[in-house]
Amino acid sequence: MDFTNKTVVVTGSGRGIGKEIAAQFVRLKANVIISDLDQGAIDETVSQLGSKTFGIKANVTSSDDLGALYEKTLEKFGSLDVLVNNAGITRDTLLVRMDEKDWDMVLDINLKGAFLATKLAAKIMMKQRRGRIINISSIVGLTGNAGQANYSASKAGLIGLTKSAAKELASRGVTVNAIAPGYIQTEMTEKLSDEAKASFLSNIPLKRAGLPSDVAAAVMFLASDEASYITGQVLAVDGGLTM
Ligand code: NAD
Repeated sequence: MDFTNKTVVVTGSGRGIGKEIAAQFVRLKANVIISDLDQGAIDETVSQLGSKTFGIKANVTSSDDLGALYEKTLEKFGSLDVLVNNAGITRDTLLVRMDEKDWDMVLDINLKGAFLATKLAAKIMMKQRRGRIINISSIVGLTGNAGQANYSASKAGLIGLTKSAAKELASRGVTVNAIAPGYIQTEMTEKLSDEAKASFLSNIPLKRAGLPSDVAAAVMFLASDEASYITGQVLAVDGGLTM
């Protein structure tokens, strides 16, 4: 795979899975916009990944920030070829204890953020008559999970958004797919209790936690020319957990 002269925006790429997605795109010669809420993480990532990256701070819940992000992307590199909607958070607790504020925050960042980023990117990609949008959902958007009503609703919503956008944008040469990672080792899952980690591991047929690089490899494929006939799909990267 070769992404020479292609420009990629990865939201939430200051750390974790997003950072690894950015790193794999850089290795495959893309120009990559490192975008995150956290300026310190952006600066560190840009200094580690080198001159093919450019950092832009943007909160995915702000259409003003996202508008400025795409404006700078086009100014710097001249096109927008791939958008990866990766930014996401958890605020886990049982449904009966869940505050409205934690519901709203998770839905705002994980789902509305992807809607806003997709809407603005779609306008650019439709004019170019090409583009790739890849949404990082989760297996809990397929299966549900106790303690994650807000998070799993946001990730299920992202799958609905993926399929609707895929249908609307297909005639303009833009594909939209989702990846549903399982249990991946990052700061997000570091917070899980030892009991929850052990329970995940015992149920994974491949008997290991996933790595950010496992998810990033699937993103590279869906963004590549080889995946041009695939749209509206959800690819689980979960060691077989949901088969
Ligand atoms: P992480 O917490 O390590 O990284 C998330 C990044 O998103 C952070 O850099 C954070 O600053 C950024 N971010 C948060 N809110 C933002 C906002 N409003 N605007 C812009 N950036 C924002 O998480 P991760 O484990 O790397 O997860 C990345 C994605 O993968 C998330 O969407 C997550 O839901 C999904 N996912 C993770 C797992 C897992 O096991 N780690 C499993 C399934 C899905």
